[in-house]
Amino acid sequence: MSSKPLSADWQARAGQVSIPGQAFIDGKYVNALSGATFDCISPIDGRLLGAVASSQADDVDCAVASARKAFEDGRWSQQSPASRKKVLLRFADLIRAHAEELALLETLDVGKPITHSLRVDVPASARCIAWYAEAVDKLYDEIAPTGPGALAMITREPIGVVGAIVPWNFPLIMASWKLGPALAAGNSVVLKPSEKSPLTAIRIAALAVEAGLPDGVLNVLPGLGDPAGKALALHMDVDCIAFTGSTVTGKRMLEYAGQSNMKRVWLECGGKSPNIVMADCPDLDRAASAAASAIFFNQGEMCSAGSRLLVQESIRDELLEKVLAIARTLEPGDPLDPATTLGALVDDLQMRRVLGYIESGRSEGAVLRTGGNQVRQGTGGFYVQPTVFDQVSGTMKIAREEIFGPVLATMTFKDAAEAVRLGNDVIYGLAAAVWTRDITAAHRMARSLRAGMVYVNCYDADDITVPFGGFKQSGSGRDKSLHAFDKYTELKTTWVDLS
Ligand code: NAD
Repeated sequence: MSSKPLSADWQARAGQVSIPGQAFIDGKYVNALSGATFDCISPIDGRLLGAVASSQADDVDCAVASARKAFEDGRWSQQSPASRKKVLLRFADLIRAHAEELALLETLDVGKPITHSLRVDVPASARCIAWYAEAVDKLYDEIAPTGPGALAMITREPIGVVGAIVPWNFPLIMASWKLGPALAAGNSVVLKPSEKSPLTAIRIAALAVEAGLPDGVLNVLPGLGDPAGKALALHMDVDCIAFTGSTVTGKRMLEYAGQSNMKRVWLECGGKSPNIVMADCPDLDRAASAAASAIFFNQGEMCSAGSRLLVQESIRDELLEKVLAIARTLEPGDPLDPATTLGALVDDLQMRRVLGYIESGRSEGAVLRTGGNQVRQGTGGFYVQPTVFDQVSGTMKIAREEIFGPVLATMTFKDAAEAVRLGNDVIYGLAAAVWTRDITAAHRMARSLRAGMVYVNCYDADDITVPFGGFKQSGSGRDKSLHAFDKYTELKTTWVDLS
């Protein structure tokens, strides 16, 4: 066995990996028509990874025209489900075959630990594409029970050209959650990755074509939110926007649809999810460990992060000590070191935002129990310690706003009713958790919590078979599961008179 540390391998490979920097339109890599680019900076050490095409409105026009042509001539939309399945299964296989390259690009681009990119992001993305591929030739349409004088068929049709706009926290997974069901259903897609994380989206476009996806069916447009995302969302020939990102930008998507062609808009937006631990929690060690990973996994850059820990008064000290003990063992490290479990925040702006919230927690009177600082400054990267606040009140900014970083706000409650009231007292409704031995209380609270996902005696339990998405200002529509097909298909009634 080599005595060379594994991180040295990833470091060496990082120096050699080819950085994809062009848009992908009509089956070919191209520069932006204007020649504009933006810098792709690694948050690991602030190094310049490369220049990436900065798509503008004219590039959006080309990509949408190519997607429209592909859709209308039926090269993909009219293939049988079984044949689309074959192509998408090959696409998933190619993602797996390029796992190390994709994981390295993801880690360099967003600073998440290489072990997570390799073991979570890439396999989950491949599994997602494969799951929708497998599903699509098992879906039947409906015949309505109209009586003998008619045959009324209710069929699903692909919606047409889908604009997918995704964020940077799980670039490949978020893209796959859109691409899997949208492509399987027969649509053409124009994918706009975040300007903070364009690399894997650009790279997989070629893998999709290698798998047999016809040219024009998947186009990838790297670029800034405005103009690239805005032009896509305002485009008169885009039938649907599937968006994941912040609530502020999600609201803009609704406006753009209203200002243009009333395209369908599906939103997966922010969260401020309550993780509620009752005094009769069956296992405080497990609850503490889940509470820590609910906020520190992926550096807290998780829409479903359990960012508010609500603890029943009588167990507050015991639980909090356990969470603090875990938080103090977690130090941000080099994302290219396989032993690292906490990496860099995505960029300087996000780090300043997180540090700003930490400052606001302090100044509003919350008690900082651990963390709170930037670390590893010497690297040139953007790292923040796992941070835990205690004695947070429901009116503080750190209790109400999404921080999107490794910052936990701890609050206490007297009884289940107060826990539910506090839990629901934010604009978001993405996820929630309840820890209790009492099955009746668990069900009652799960029903009262206004959230798209409620976990009982666990946090962030996940599978492609279940829907993901939120109530309230966390969005509309669902990613994952068979329900995701609803976003990418139109229902048609065909009534045949038999009288
Ligand atoms: P963001 O809203 O800043 O950007 C998301 C995407 O929208 C990016 O591709 C960006 O370029 C684009 N965009 C920005 N401004 C735009 C505009 N005016 N017009 C069109 N497009 C525009 O969000 P972010 O910082 O990239 O991601 C973090 C957010 O994503 C958090 O709020 C997080 O909770 C949310 N998120 C939600 C889910 C979910 O499933 N609910 C999953 C992951 C992340």
